[in-house]
This record gives sequence, C-alpha cells and structure tokens, in this order.
Amino acid sequence: MLRSLKQTIPALATSDGAGVRIKRSLGQRQSVRMDPFLMLDEFGSDQPQDYIAGFPAHPHRGFETVTYMIEGHMLHEDHLGNRGNLRNGGVQWMTAGRGIVHSEMPQQESGVMRGFQLWLNLPAAEKMKPAGYRDIQPEEIPIARQPGVSVRVIAGELEIGGGAVTGAVTGGSTEPVYADVHLEPGARVSLPVPQALNALVYLYEGVASLVSEDRNQALVPSSANILDHGDEVLIEGGEAGAKLLLIAGRPIGEPVVQYGPFVMNATAEIEQALADYRDGTLTV
Ligand code: MN
Repeated sequence: MLRSLKQTIPALATSDGAGVRIKRSLGQRQSVRMDPFLMLDEFGSDQPQDYIAGFPAHPHRGFETVTYMIEGHMLHEDHLGNRGNLRNGGVQWMTAGRGIVHSEMPQQESGVMRGFQLWLNLPAAEKMKPAGYRDIQPEEIPIARQPGVSVRVIAGELEIGGGAVTGAVTGGSTEPVYADVHLEPGARVSLPVPQALNALVYLYEGVASLVSEDRNQALVPSSANILDHGDEVLIEGGEAGAKLLLIAGRPIGEPVVQYGPFVMNATAEIEQALADYRDGTLTV
C-alpha cells in the first residue's frame, strides 16, 4: 500500500551552537518528534556570519547524530581523538552512547555551507554503550540510478528499479533508512519502506508530490512531511525537478526525557548525565 501524507511539520528558523542559523523541523519543541528520530535541522547559507561561529566543544549522551554535508567543509574533533573532515556529499555518523564531547567547526571563511543534522535515538539498552564515530566519504555512498532518478543511499537497504542497494550504513536496532533522492521533472520513483518503520520526506529543493492510492499530495518544502502507514513511498518530481530526503526508522516506544544534548529515558538519568559531565566522567 502506498503511504500518504499524514502531517507536515514546517521547519522554524532558529540558531544553535555558537550562533549558527538553522531551520529545525523535528525537535523544534519536545513534543515534535517522530520516533526514533528526535531532531532534524537543515542548515544552508552563503553568508559566513550564518555559520562561521560553528559548534565549539559540547557533550552528548544517549543517542546518535548523523550529519550530511551537501556543500561545505566542517571539521569534527572529539575527546577520543577522532578528527574528521566533512566535505561535499560526506556523512558523519556519531554514536554518543555513554558520552562524547566534540566540536564541529567550519573550515571555510566564505562560500556556501549546506546540509542536515539528524538525531537518532537509541533504545535504553544501548544508551550507555561506548561512543563511536564514522566518517563516511562521498564515494562510499552508493548511488542507484534509473531514468530521471538518482538516489544516494546513506543508510539502510532500498530496492530501487528492481535492484537492492545497500547503504553505507546498515543494521542498528532501529533499522534506519536515509536516502537523498534527486528527481528530474516528471520522474517517478518507488521506494519500498517496511510497514514497521516510521517515515518522513524532507523536500529541500524544487517541487514534488506524493502519489498515494487515491490522490496526489504536494510535499511541503523545508518541512518534515510525516508519512502514514504503508509499505511503499511513490514520489513524482514537479516541473523543476526535486531534491528530497527519505528518512525512516523503527520506533523505539520508550519514554524520552531530553535536556539539551542529553537524551535519556528518565529524569534521574538526566541528572546523572549532568553530574557526570560536571565531574568529568561523562565519557569515562
Ligand atoms: Mn554535536
């Protein structure tokens, strides 16, 4: 069954880090999430003052951050000694787990910086696992092509045009799917997404519609377009074509207690995270 549009969450302009201008859809309020995803930020500007301050050293615990850089250059450094350059088309998949302290700083003084950061929750059993980090180079991300369509499969497995494509990141208890879909004008793509996964589409360029059993629904730009139940996502590019993200994952179904960069299941665990950070044992 084709998935239809259930709800649209427009991104709101805000700032984060040391003053980076972003547009936030998921996570703009604590009640606005799509289990297992906690937050989705879009950043995009050719004005250095919008991004130059970056994200100086800050902690996380209890979830994962996935940064997809469409254009630009950022440097990640963390307390484990990881250093990673994030460039055009690259992805950083960071597991905060028990704790990480990292910085994300622009490595350019002019030009365009454009991309997304997604926060993926971890189930209780994995919130305190050791921190981890993966730097995924653009050429490691497989691209599926069919006439008028190209799909970069960052995470998960997608069957496109009769062939299965395995993304750069697979597995994980929430079975995340993350794809960047480019459509030429009028091109259609069918993307199977299992019933059990929550799914959204984020249209970041152009015009596209979601084709469901009985209607076509326009996708709202710069918004989390939350999809209803079904096992297939059918999208058609509009007159100017379109670029969009498909993001899906298996809901965790546990209580979520968030305090800034810490996301746990209970208030006492947040208090513990704050105490650990204060005492310097967050990452130990
Ligand atoms: Mn961070």
